[in-house]
Amino acid sequence: MTVVTTGPVAALVAALGDAVVTDSATMIAYTRDQSLLSPSGHPIAVVRARTTDHVVTTLKVAHRQGIPVVTRGAGTGLAGGANAIDGCIVLSTEKLDRILAIDEQSRTATVEPGVVNGDLAAAVAERGLWYVPDPGSRDISTIGGNLATNAGGACCAKYGVTGDHVARITAVLADGRIIHTGAATRKNVAGFDLTRLLVGSEGTLAVIVEATMRLRRTPAHTATVVAAFSDAVHAVDAVMDIQAVADPSLVELMDQTTIAAVNDMTHMGLDNTAGALLLIQCDGDAAEAEAERSADACRAAAATELYVSTDPAEGDALMQARRVALTALERRGSTLLDDLAVPVPRLPQMLDAITRIADRHRMLIGTFGHAADGNLHPTIVFDAADPDAADRAHQAFDEMVTRCLALGGSITGEHGVGELKRRYLEPMVGSVERSLMTEIKAVFDPTAILNPGRAI
Ligand SMILES: Cc1cc2nc3c(=O)[nH]c(=O)nc-3n(C[C@H](O)[C@H](O)[C@H](O)COP(=O)(O)OP(=O)(O)OC[C@H]3O[C@@H](n4cnc5c(N)ncnc54)[C@H](O)[C@@H]3O)c2cc1C
Repeated sequence: MTVVTTGPVAALVAALGDAVVTDSATMIAYTRDQSLLSPSGHPIAVVRARTTDHVVTTLKVAHRQGIPVVTRGAGTGLAGGANAIDGCIVLSTEKLDRILAIDEQSRTATVEPGVVNGDLAAAVAERGLWYVPDPGSRDISTIGGNLATNAGGACCAKYGVTGDHVARITAVLADGRIIHTGAATRKNVAGFDLTRLLVGSEGTLAVIVEATMRLRRTPAHTATVVAAFSDAVHAVDAVMDIQAVADPSLVELMDQTTIAAVNDMTHMGLDNTAGALLLIQCDGDAAEAEAERSADACRAAAATELYVSTDPAEGDALMQARRVALTALERRGSTLLDDLAVPVPRLPQMLDAITRIADRHRMLIGTFGHAADGNLHPTIVFDAADPDAADRAHQAFDEMVTRCLALGGSITGEHGVGELKRRYLEPMVGSVERSLMTEIKAVFDPTAILNPGRAI
């Protein structure tokens, strides 16, 4: 069914032609992200922008008529940030998908926002370069979405999050003006750092239409350690000890529930009797030596099984076990995935709280995450068709966030606030700080059309 094209939609169709979609069967695919429990509404149109001009025109029409605009990359977000709002225009950047330049000398790549993370990584790898940010969704999520959520991933322990790898951004403001942030130079301290402000702004300040991302040389060597423990607390002991002897690029944790789910799905033969598993990867010239020292730290923390590999292909295959953790848990039922970060020394308390909360609410919670960052993804698995179970799941979710805050943690380490975590933002950042964020948004977007009610 095609929605009547009058008013703003007619203006969009007149200006943008077939870039505008009003057919409800097609629009449905653009109404939700992967946070299935966050509310979503019905858009009046979806614009599949193919050029920056399409973005400018869309925003000018929306700005003039006061229509909300939800910018959308691949829709893999886990906080409801790309979910449609009733009466909005969904502005999809998925077709702005060109890699514009790869500059080996400056070690940068300039891309449109719809370029998929893994495609950029593959393109630069052909030239011996490495695009580092590696969210678990790297094969499906876009650079625009990664920037707008400041996505993390496995390698953050050593290399930081997406925002640590961006040099410049071109973006379109709510009224259609184009801004360029950052500089072509390696160093730049001129004025306020607008690049950092746009990073993580979840589509609320501007629409990113181009970005220059920094690249690194591909490490010559990698070495991977897999360590099994009787429980997660011993695994965390090892995480803290490893930090004193090595500088791993990643330290990933999976608890028993997650290990079992991954084994069921992949038949990888992970140690099903283990209470927790650590996957540790070291890179660079000292990779092997660092991996051996990490293995020693695991041994000292009473690891029950240890395996070290210097074969990169094997390392990648082992990492695959961690990458499919969420998908594996999703096969057990509906999931409510959390994203909490605590100071690393407080991980045992957070893990203990998750266990207690699961017991109290009679819920299955599988926990995995980026242990070296203190970033956990406790995932509540439940039957969404059972109202009592859904209610208990939400209570458990709420209690985990509350406990995380009490431990001095962050309500989101990498997925963003979106719709899902908005009620926790003020308790975390403070009321004055939140007001400042609202005031900053008003400067960028005075008529509040960009993803209203999200992120802040
Ligand atoms: C299996 C799986 C694994 C995942 N693993 C990780 C992980 O390891 N680490 C992690 O951080 N996240 C992870 N995620 C979450 C998600 O992939 C990231 O948040 C990702 O950055 C979203 O990118 P996207 O292109 O799908 O953006 P979308 O979901 O489409 O949008 C996300 C937000 O960005 C805004 N946005 C999108 N494009 C633009 C743009 N061009 N300009 C301005 N705003 C924009 C949207 O309005 C929305 O608020 C995972 C998700 C899945 C499904």
